[in-house]
Amino acid sequence: MHEMSLMESVIEIVCETARRNGVTRVKSVRLEVGVLSHVDPEALLFCYEAVRRGTIADGAALEINHVEGEGWCVDCCKTVKLEERFGGCPECGRHRVQMTAGDELKIRDMEVV
Ligand SMILES: [Zn+2]
Repeated sequence: MHEMSLMESVIEIVCETARRNGVTRVKSVRLEVGVLSHVDPEALLFCYEAVRRGTIADGAALEINHVEGEGWCVDCCKTVKLEERFGGCPECGRHRVQMTAGDELKIRDMEVV
């Protein structure tokens, strides 16, 4: 499962960061997930709960912030809203839009005890 390896690396980074800062327990983790990233939030949560077990992030809540899709339209020369990965520009209708946001999955921050 795609989500499983994503969550494994998230937990790895969280635990590594916590250890480096002398933290013994992580209270919550906040993720930024782009709406165009094609990850299933429910699957993410399921995998998260599975991989955090036995780590210092065990019991830490997971918060998911959704990031809207955005792209740069070459024809309009501006940033436009992107509804789908290879979607067209909502203003000129052409398909020369380069995705600039909405594809990410990253850790925004974490709360520690
Ligand atoms: Zn355009």
